[in-house]
Amino acid sequence: MKDSDFLIIGGGCSGISLAVEIVAAGLENRGITILESHNHLFQSNKTWCFWNTQPHRFQSSISKRWKKWTIVHSGEIIRCSSNQYDYCHISSSRYIESAMKRLSSRAQVKIFSATRVEQIVEHQDHVIVSTNQGDFRGRYVFDSRPSFSLPDQEILTQQFMGHFLEFDGDCVEADSVTLMDFSDFDQSLVSFIYELPFDSRNTLVEATFFAKHHLDKKIFETAIEKAVRKRYGEANYRITSTEYGIIPMSADYAISQENKKRVLNIGLRAGMARSSTGYAFLNIQRSSAEIVNQLRNGSTELNPPTILSPTLKFLDRVFLDRLCQEPQWFAAAVTRLFKQVPTDSMVRFLSGSPNSSDIASVVGAMPNKTALLLGAFSHAGADIA
Ligand SMILES: Cc1cc2nc3c(=O)[nH]c(=O)nc-3n(C[C@H](O)[C@H](O)[C@H](O)COP(=O)(O)OP(=O)(O)OC[C@H]3O[C@@H](n4cnc5c(N)ncnc54)[C@H](O)[C@@H]3O)c2cc1C
Repeated sequence: MKDSDFLIIGGGCSGISLAVEIVAAGLENRGITILESHNHLFQSNKTWCFWNTQPHRFQSSISKRWKKWTIVHSGEIIRCSSNQYDYCHISSSRYIESAMKRLSSRAQVKIFSATRVEQIVEHQDHVIVSTNQGDFRGRYVFDSRPSFSLPDQEILTQQFMGHFLEFDGDCVEADSVTLMDFSDFDQSLVSFIYELPFDSRNTLVEATFFAKHHLDKKIFETAIEKAVRKRYGEANYRITSTEYGIIPMSADYAISQENKKRVLNIGLRAGMARSSTGYAFLNIQRSSAEIVNQLRNGSTELNPPTILSPTLKFLDRVFLDRLCQEPQWFAAAVTRLFKQVPTDSMVRFLSGSPNSSDIASVVGAMPNKTALLLGAFSHAGADIA
């Protein structure tokens, strides 16, 4: 049986981030083992975008930054820009390259690919993890296996597909991101186009839908094709790669930590995707740092990191409840927020680190603000506690 202090299940974003954080804290001597079911880490290309509102360990992997972004709704273009915060992009290939530089030189870090975890049994002072390659023993286990699947669960999800396009000529304006273009908004299903322009020839055009049931990929293809033709006319392009994902828009899919002392869920499994936005990258970095603090302090019982304040959870819940009841309300509400709330406040709010005046600005731009203010302030006490 193979032994190590830290057993990490899943070599994806949260598993690798945690391993990097443990090494940065100098705790790797105790042994880190990563168990990944695929043959290679990050087989498919993924992009992670976020606003740089906080320091993290992958700063040098950022491949592109934008200072401007737009929202498009009902013929109106809301242009936002910030001198303080950039919208940043990291590709999974840059991410894994940077992580491997830090992990592969350490003899105490072992990565097992093609190793599918089948069972976890917690004992008094250790945990046994059974896989198709045999058993592993750890003092602590961090589990990032996906926790939900469609269509078994009736959960509102954000489903998206994006094509990376390469044009023959210089036709892409690369200085501004389209965060949400609701121009072809469907009344029954929330949908928008997201565009991440990398340079004058390369861009990512992505279609996003919010739905409770699994959507056919044809819907995404059609929406992307329409958006590309609208933006770039008959310009010639090739699809160089495609990304696809489903992210739950609810904290309820997260697996409960009850009665576990040495096994901690991480990543999406632990509810790290912000339910109202789907952004998870910064939450994963924050929670990795918080977990390592617990390990450094010698905790014998691991506690789930607290990432989102009760006020933000309350506001997200209100937002999602309304979205479920009235999908057509979403585009107008989001547009109003980007129009009325100062850009830096909006960025901190979306990134999960608003101050009280940011929250007041966001609530002030929403309909039913009195009820929201009362609710938000009743939760603010819990934020401070
Ligand atoms: C296409 C896409 C784009 C995204 N873009 C953004 C973005 O721009 N910004 C942002 O903030 N968030 C984004 N997200 C959300 C989030 O950041 C990512 O989903 C992130 O990868 C979640 O990390 P994770 O570790 O929870 O899951 P993953 O990165 O998926 O890692 C889980 C790992 O566990 C492995 N595994 C599964 N089962 C087993 C098993 N039984 N045994 C061993 N290993 C197993 C999987 O193979 C996988 O490698 C995006 C998500 C997707 C899908």
